[in-house]
Amino acid sequence: MDDLIRRAAEDLAAAKRVTALTGAGISSESGIPPFRGKGGLWERFDPMEIAHIDALTRDPAKVWRVLVKEMKEIVDRAKPNNAHKGLAKLEKQNKLKTIITQNIDGLHQVAGNTDVIEFHGSFAWQRCMVCDKKYETRKVDVSEIPPRCECSGILRPDAVFFGEMIPTDAMRRSRQAATDCDLMLVVGTSAVVQPAAMMPVIAKNAGAKIVEINPERTPLTNEISDYLIMGKAGEVMNRIIEAMEKI
Ligand SMILES: [Zn+2]
Repeated sequence: MDDLIRRAAEDLAAAKRVTALTGAGISSESGIPPFRGKGGLWERFDPMEIAHIDALTRDPAKVWRVLVKEMKEIVDRAKPNNAHKGLAKLEKQNKLKTIITQNIDGLHQVAGNTDVIEFHGSFAWQRCMVCDKKYETRKVDVSEIPPRCECSGILRPDAVFFGEMIPTDAMRRSRQAATDCDLMLVVGTSAVVQPAAMMPVIAKNAGAKIVEINPERTPLTNEISDYLIMGKAGEVMNRIIEAMEKI
């Protein structure tokens, strides 16, 4: 692993324009459970019952009681970990330009990154279903469910529910960020779910290096990635940043 850490540090030092693609694996060390897979929320809840736009429209109080309240508690408590902080440092060093994330926890912004494309929107914000006014989730009073806007419209997460489209602006901008980068860091995602899955392919075809940080092999490994650093996102990012400081 030491060789790969050094290699990633050297590649990042040489890169001029880095894009990061992140997923659930980067936030698990911050206590955010994944939606999919082992230990995921969808093991306990049927997403079609509580995370589909039809469910939200039909019975927003139920969606709030079952899903949003729990997500709010998790997101309110969560803090960025070393992986988020490492990406924020890379932005400060003017290496990292854009993060494309599948996460809805808002932790990249808390860590200090300023250009974050959220494919699936954000649980860190709620928006009024009537007037679109936005409220920071941690400031929303949940003593009455569902909470309401000052216009009395019901608040909903500013996140993409099943049955809703990925915002076209997020799609366009992430394709651009994938095309423009000379190195893509893929952190904490197996990138099997579209549209995230196509971003490393776009970057690769445009000539970028693809550096993968994941706890295990993924469909990208050996196919799209130049190399995989196997490990926890926070620990690996920390070591790469340390190695960069020694170059
Ligand atoms: Zn409103």
